[in-house]
Amino acid sequence: MQRSITIPYSDKPRHECGICGIFNHPDASKLTYFGLYALQHRGQESAGIVSSNGTTVSIHKAMGLVPEVFSEEILQSLTGSLAIGHVRYSTTGASNATNTQPLLARHKNQTISVAHNGNLVNATALRSELEDQGSIFQTTMDSEVVLHLMAHSASQGLNTALRQTFSSIKGAFSMLLMTEDRMVAIRDPDGFRPLCLGRLSCKKEGSWIVASETCALDLVEAEYIRDIEPGEILIIDKDGLRSLFPWPKQTPHHCIFEHVYFARPDSEVFGINVYHARKEMGKILARQAPIEADLVMPFPDSGNYAALGYAQESGIPLEFGVIRNHYVGRTFIQPTQSMRDFNVRVKLNPVRSFLQDKRIIIVEDSIIRGTTGKSRVAALRRTGAKEVHMVVSCPPTRHACYYGIDFPSVDQLVAGDKKVDEIRDYLGLDSLHYLSLDGLVQATGMSREKFCLACFNGVYPVQPDLNFHKDALALQNH
Ligand code: SF4
Repeated sequence: MQRSITIPYSDKPRHECGICGIFNHPDASKLTYFGLYALQHRGQESAGIVSSNGTTVSIHKAMGLVPEVFSEEILQSLTGSLAIGHVRYSTTGASNATNTQPLLARHKNQTISVAHNGNLVNATALRSELEDQGSIFQTTMDSEVVLHLMAHSASQGLNTALRQTFSSIKGAFSMLLMTEDRMVAIRDPDGFRPLCLGRLSCKKEGSWIVASETCALDLVEAEYIRDIEPGEILIIDKDGLRSLFPWPKQTPHHCIFEHVYFARPDSEVFGINVYHARKEMGKILARQAPIEADLVMPFPDSGNYAALGYAQESGIPLEFGVIRNHYVGRTFIQPTQSMRDFNVRVKLNPVRSFLQDKRIIIVEDSIIRGTTGKSRVAALRRTGAKEVHMVVSCPPTRHACYYGIDFPSVDQLVAGDKKVDEIRDYLGLDSLHYLSLDGLVQATGMSREKFCLACFNGVYPVQPDLNFHKDALALQNH
């Protein structure tokens, strides 16, 4: 029987979430929509916007991609000059409509909304404490504890509530809070996830955007002003901008995987252009792993920019030996009979006449489970390729992430228990080379101490909850 299935696009780790907020603009919800559109790569499961006209708050959120969730009519119903939005891939809490963001709560005739990118490593303990004190939770998301903590200290004023709330939570949080007339941007002291501030051109004075990545600013023609600093709470209201720094100053630990794979190449992340960093990764890889070959190619669109760097540095031509079908939807009808590697071929098809008898270097940005890589290499072999080598623009990912990336558990990571030679054999390659950790850091032009490298070296900047499970808060309820 034919059935509709969800395509496993690749075995890449899932993006976390994207957030965008607009303060003091007559088209706040529409601009938030465009911002989310630019950030769609950070989360494809659900989208939502909450807006305020100063007294009334409106919200719409649902499962699906940004253009599927919002229509012109819905955006018109989200009135006001203040809005925050969220695109989600679930890194905590089940993927369902209840767990969509932004979260909106009412407390003593006031509202507070939250849009969160990251993972709180002590959410389970905090939630348990709050439940002991009588709190009732509506979702299974870690972000909901923030609303409860804010409500608990609301009577002491905004600044104190923010200081108390955020000094008690730990982990990765780039976050937007919204009341009827204020927007607050918060970035954890490690600065795991990016968050930037831009100025909108508008007849109104003091019109601002805060977004996960600068590509959202570009789309709405906002001027990039600066990143929200690690450890900063930035309050934006009618009096302007003011910052709180409730944490002691420390060295940040930015997620280097934003540069390897997550962020859009046209974004500036942690002060570095992502395209440039990826190309540098490819160049350094070409120096670290020189291979005699006829062509260099990416599997589109993974590894495109590193492949360009590798080709330029090695002098080996860059070619597109595999063609991507850009019109593959998220679901499709399975063939009646089992067709070998159908899921791979429906998206990517090798150009047989071009690859036959060639020595090929594939440039990948990362290998996580290795399952799709294995099928893709097998597909290249069937074209008659003479040699198939692979170079990877990061080191082997051997450890789990607890900071907002949905890495599989260690036993699902192909590098979790395999040496490089074993992975090479598993994938069916002639050779396999990874970029060194030093090479990866060097490609960013920043110093090593400023990055989280935990999925490569197992050194976690913030003590994780090692029993963390994506659905831990849901399991706690049963
Ligand atoms: Fe990023 Fe890896 Fe650190 Fe997670 S563990 S925050 S993916 S560098």
